[in-house]
Amino acid sequence: MQEVIDKLSNEIQKGLSKQMHSRSTVKCWPTYVQDLPTQNERGKYLALDLGGTNFRVLLVSINGPDDVDIQTQAFQIAQPLMACPASALFDFIAECLDNFVKEKQLSDKELSLGFTFSFPMRQLSLAEANLVTWTKGFSCDEVVGKNVTKLLQESISRRGTLKVNIVAIINDTTGALISCAYNHKNCRIGLIVGTGCNACYVEKTCNVEMFEDYQTSQKPNMIINCEWGAFGDNGVLDNILTSFDRMVDKQTPNQGKQIFEKCVSGMYLGELVRIIIVKLMEEGKLFNGIESSIMHENWKFETKFISAVESDPPGIFEKCNEVLNECCLNDASDEDKACLRYICETISTRSAKLVACGLVTLINKMEICDLSVGIDGSLYRRHPKYHDLLMDNVKKYVGTDVCVQFFTSDDGSGRGAALVAALYKDNK
Ligand code: ADP
Repeated sequence: MQEVIDKLSNEIQKGLSKQMHSRSTVKCWPTYVQDLPTQNERGKYLALDLGGTNFRVLLVSINGPDDVDIQTQAFQIAQPLMACPASALFDFIAECLDNFVKEKQLSDKELSLGFTFSFPMRQLSLAEANLVTWTKGFSCDEVVGKNVTKLLQESISRRGTLKVNIVAIINDTTGALISCAYNHKNCRIGLIVGTGCNACYVEKTCNVEMFEDYQTSQKPNMIINCEWGAFGDNGVLDNILTSFDRMVDKQTPNQGKQIFEKCVSGMYLGELVRIIIVKLMEEGKLFNGIESSIMHENWKFETKFISAVESDPPGIFEKCNEVLNECCLNDASDEDKACLRYICETISTRSAKLVACGLVTLINKMEICDLSVGIDGSLYRRHPKYHDLLMDNVKKYVGTDVCVQFFTSDDGSGRGAALVAALYKDNK
C-alpha cells in the first residue's frame, strides 16, 4: 500500500505541474470551483445529471441549511442513445429539460443550471469543458475533444423555448464534495465508488499550475478533479496486477485504459470474481463438476452479488444461496460457499485498500489534521463492509494526529450541482 501511495503521490505532483502534466496519468484538472458553500445560498436552481445509467433533471429549492427541496425526474439512456451522434444525445437532454421545466410551470423564469457530467473532461472555465474520452459504455460520435456545454447550449437554443443559464459544469466528485461541505464545513475530499471511481480535493491555488491565474488569483483554494481512474495506465501498477485483472481489461472497449478504476469500481469487481471462479471450476477445485452456462458468460456475475454473499453472518449462507441460485449453481457444498465468500472478500477488500491508498495520498498532500470526506456510489453505499474497510485502511496510513470522518454524500450530482450554480450564478 505504501508503494501505491508513493506512486500516486508522484503522479498527482506531475498532474498539477505545467511542465510534467502531459506525462502524468492522473491529470488533476482544475475545476474552477474555488469556493465552498456557506449555508447562505438561497433560490431555485436546475441541475442535470449525466454520467451513469440514468439521466436526471432536477429542480433544487434551497431555502436554508435544513430546508433543501429536490424534485427530480429520471430518464433511461437507452443503448442506442449511448452510441448515437452528439446532436441526438444533446437534443434528447434538452427535450427532457424543456418538458420538465414546462411541467413545473417555470418556462417564463430565467433559471441558473448546474450540469453534472461525470466523464473525464478538461475544464476550460467554470461553465465549459471538453470531453477527454467516453467511459462507462458511452461512445457517441463527435463529442470527444468537443466543448460539452456548447453542445448542450446549441440543443437548448434549437428548441427556442428555454431560458436557462448554464453556470457550471462539474463532475460527480465535485458534486459529492460540495454537497457534503454544505453540512460539514471541514469537507475537503469528494469520492465516488460506483460504476467508476474518482476523487476530487481542495488544493492551494498556487499549486495548480494548469490554472492560468494560479499565481494571481485572489482565491486561496481550487477543487482539483484528480481523474485517478487512469492511474496505472503507464504501467506503474503492473507489479500489483493479476492475470485476472488483465483478462477483465482485455474484455473492455477501453483496453489498457482506466487501470486503477478496473481494480476497484463496481463495473468490474463482479467480473473479476467470475473469472476467478471459472478458473477454479475448470481446475476442478470449485463446485465439484456442477455446470453453469451463466458463469461462462462475461459480465454475468454482478457486483451486487459480492455484497449479498458478504452480508451473510459467518457460517450462514442464506444470501449466498440466493446468488448461487441465480447463477444456476445449486447443490454447492458449504466448503464451496465459504470459498466463494473468500473470493468475494478478497476482491472487495483489495478494492477498499486501493481506494484507501488514494485517500491517504490526498490527505497527506493537504497536510490538514481534521477533515471530512463526502462519498457516494453504490459500491460504497451498499457493500456491507466497504465503509469500515476503507476507514480502517485509511487510519493505518495517515498520521495518528489526523482525524478523518466519512459521510455519505447525499445527491451530490443534484444538490451539489445546484449549490455550485448558487455560488456562481452572478459570475456571468
Ligand atoms: P453511477 O456510478 O453509475 O452513478 P451507482 O453509484 O449506482 O451509479 O453505481 C453503479 C454500480 O454499482 C454498478 O457497477 C453496480 O454493479 C454497482 N452496484 C449496484 N448495486 C450494488 C451493491 N448492492 N453492491 C455493490 N455494488 C453494487
